[in-house]
Amino acid sequence: MKNWKQEVEKRQDELIQSTCEFLKIPSVYDSASVTTEAPFGEGIAKAYNWLLNKAQKEGFRIKDLSGKAGHIEWGQGDEVIGVLCHIDVVPGGEGWTTPAFSADIRDNHIYARGALDDKGPTMASYYALKLIKELNIPLKKRIRLIIGTDEEREWQCVKHYFKYETMPDIGFVPDADFPVICAEKGIADFLFYKKAIKSGGLVMSFSAGTRFNMVPDKAVLTLNRKRIEDLDLLKQMFTVFLSEEGLTGKWEMDEALVVLTFNGLAAHGSTPEEGRNAALAGAAFLTKISLKEEEKTFFQFLNQLFYDDYLGEKLGISYTDDELGAVTINIGTLSYERDKGIRVGINLRYPSGADYQTIMGNLIKAFDTIDMDTEVVSHQEPHGVRKDHPLIKILSDVYQRHTGESREPIAIGGGTYARALRAGVAFGPLFPGQPDVIHQPDEYITIDHLIKLTAIYADAMSILASNELKE
Ligand SMILES: [Zn+2]
Repeated sequence: MKNWKQEVEKRQDELIQSTCEFLKIPSVYDSASVTTEAPFGEGIAKAYNWLLNKAQKEGFRIKDLSGKAGHIEWGQGDEVIGVLCHIDVVPGGEGWTTPAFSADIRDNHIYARGALDDKGPTMASYYALKLIKELNIPLKKRIRLIIGTDEEREWQCVKHYFKYETMPDIGFVPDADFPVICAEKGIADFLFYKKAIKSGGLVMSFSAGTRFNMVPDKAVLTLNRKRIEDLDLLKQMFTVFLSEEGLTGKWEMDEALVVLTFNGLAAHGSTPEEGRNAALAGAAFLTKISLKEEEKTFFQFLNQLFYDDYLGEKLGISYTDDELGAVTINIGTLSYERDKGIRVGINLRYPSGADYQTIMGNLIKAFDTIDMDTEVVSHQEPHGVRKDHPLIKILSDVYQRHTGESREPIAIGGGTYARALRAGVAFGPLFPGQPDVIHQPDEYITIDHLIKLTAIYADAMSILASNELKE
């Protein structure tokens, strides 16, 4: 068996130097510089062309599809192993010790936006392929490094790519976590809305959350002061409510309005159990005070069906499977405004055994009882590869060989870029327990991490492309 790590270490200066050069290109979407040649703006086009040109110079077959996506290929045979990466990054943002696109090296860490998501792992994958080429590893299949350029926004890159190019038979995606993510829940966003509310109630407005896939950590309720019968009693009820619920909040008022703030705890929409939904806390409080008919109906509905029930039990949609876990629902956004109506944004996650049509039907029926309409904003089916598929075994073995740890493949509620492949799984770059600095200031990859990734990916690619993958 090849000592991949040693082979990477022999070439580590070049790997580090190229990675830094690549990271210095600010490949952030920029609408102002979009052209036919640069469909996502100048920075992304520059990084994309830099990588394809490098690969061509170094003897690989390359293909470009209108600057939106392309591939770097090595090997021969009918079958294709796909390794899907992306070279676009989120903006640098504030709070960096050194500029986000300086690729400064301090204490064996390379600091740059994209170091971990996903330009560092892209370079590790590229150097893995280069190593296979240099060492003349005999391949029975082709390995394609597919380069995406719009992962952080709309995935237009892969949509465009797979319109023209064949889907790899099998593959992996270095854009999430180790060991192997073999299954991902189905994800859907629903917007429930009502265009008008009768005026004259106590609630002027109520709003919480900005994203469907986050548990809102703050809700703001504005009441019409003139309609409050007993201000002192209300204030007392608010204080008691907060202390009973173990929450914090704020009471403010002027001549016309009383504004109540409820603080919850933010969490990702795939793990609502880790958060505390401020929108539902506010709704629960509203059911304790005297409201007009229409507002009462709405807040009681929310409270009865969703309060303390992210598993959908009261809606009759709860379901758990052994591999992927439970159906979860998250009220991510809520806006109730006297002149503009009501909007409720829900993020649903479900395992492959759950029946999406039934879940959707129950949600629609429930909101229909209070005259609210539905828009399905987005829906992605559950994604995954069977646990007993040879791909899982090969990647798990590679992982074990390089880390000394035997770990079961994992199933997650989130969605990764691996969904773009028909039979593909996420495989790194983040190791269990490693700090997740993705999209954060001072994003970094350590040099050891970069070397280890390159060795792992070279090992995985060479095995996948030189074996028969009998199922
Ligand atoms: Zn990514």
